[in-house]
Amino acid sequence: MQTSFTPAQLTDPDIESVNGILRSCVHCGFCTATCPTYVLLGDELDSPRGRIYQMKSFIEEDRVPTDEEVKHIDRCLSCLSCMTTCPPSVHYMHLVDHGRAHIARTYHRPLLDRLTRTFIGFVLPRPGLFRWALIGGSLVRPIRNLMPNRLKTMLNLLPASVPSPGWVDRKETYPASNAAISEQSSCEPAKARVALLSGCAQQVLGPHVNEATVRLLNRLGVEVVVTNPKGCCGALVHHMGQTEASHNQAKAMIDAWIVEADDKGLDAVIINASGCGTTVKDYGYMFRNDPDYSEKAARVAALTQDITEFLTTLDMSEVSAPEDLSVTYHSACSMQHGQQIKAAPLDLLLMAGFAVKEPAESHLCCGSAGTYNMLQPEIASQLKKRKIANLRMTQPDIIATGNIGCMMQLSSLKGEGAVVPVVHTVELLDWAAGGPRPLGMSTG
Ligand code: SF4
Ligand code: SF4
Repeated sequence: MQTSFTPAQLTDPDIESVNGILRSCVHCGFCTATCPTYVLLGDELDSPRGRIYQMKSFIEEDRVPTDEEVKHIDRCLSCLSCMTTCPPSVHYMHLVDHGRAHIARTYHRPLLDRLTRTFIGFVLPRPGLFRWALIGGSLVRPIRNLMPNRLKTMLNLLPASVPSPGWVDRKETYPASNAAISEQSSCEPAKARVALLSGCAQQVLGPHVNEATVRLLNRLGVEVVVTNPKGCCGALVHHMGQTEASHNQAKAMIDAWIVEADDKGLDAVIINASGCGTTVKDYGYMFRNDPDYSEKAARVAALTQDITEFLTTLDMSEVSAPEDLSVTYHSACSMQHGQQIKAAPLDLLLMAGFAVKEPAESHLCCGSAGTYNMLQPEIASQLKKRKIANLRMTQPDIIATGNIGCMMQLSSLKGEGAVVPVVHTVELLDWAAGGPRPLGMSTG
């Protein structure tokens, strides 16, 4: 794609990066076929190619985007399905992040939209505050039909109950035990030492996921340290264009992990929410122009692995499914498109002895997409219905996935027809390694 940035514009490293991305697009349109919003809405302006043109226009002209342009960029899920399909590997993720930051800097949103975004961006990354917001929300939920639409949507997304705080929400080191694998090996030194991102929203909505992760890693001989339990990786606000807030949150995580790596050593930074993993793996790019953080950020990014990637490096031969169950694996967009992790979760579940299936249209987003289901409820709801129908076609006993957002979005499977628990992949593997039955299966 031809661009016409001025030499003065190109002295800005962000514009230089945007220019390179735009120039790599050959406008072939292959990406449109796999874009969920184009598939649903059939409008070129809601396709990756259409959005690329719109972002080129307002960034190149260095102007305030129009209401229409903001509408179409806001409708993008950042699912990155287009990046998987694109033949010349256009880095749409970096482009849309720049586009969103440009919108956040220049565009004046309507008051309700601003309030909603400020509320989400302030509350969700703070676990203590988020817990109180959930408790408050569950108290007013019975009268949600009397509330304004935006508020009603958010209340509809609340879990049926707020889980009690887990034991992985504090600064702590969890030593390797090996107990469930082999009693004899319990005195062996740890095979590896890793830091776990306990996650902001995840530790509140699904504390059992972190507990299963620590238990499983400890049993497999891995020491786990939680360095910054109340921290957020910055992903949530990053995708809302709030650059300063996301960088500050990311810097706190980078500092904590670098101190730990330089002190006792780290073999990996483990992430069990693929949405967060995509962002942490991108820290090198986020801080490429920051002389104080570029090197540290690149180090952290290089250490970062999804839990399933890391598990494939361990000996899982004694892990065995306690029951014959059919598991349909839902691959989160951030897992399959953002991090290009496709085989590892399936291989691990198969190796543990579960019968594993994949749904039709597995490349399409479920509509969760970080804060998308709060900000674009209509499209999110259509995608959710489509995903649930495809998942149900496989007649699963359980749905497994690797991202808390998808777990919450799909948990409505419980409310429609036969109960199908939605659990994290690591919960099934922990169960197969001698841990407790996943919470979602126990409660049905
Ligand atoms: S597939 Fe890639 S190169 Fe083709 S239009 Fe889409 S983004 Fe551009
Ligand atoms: S990120 Fe997803 S929704 Fe956005 S343009 Fe790409 S495929 Fe479409």
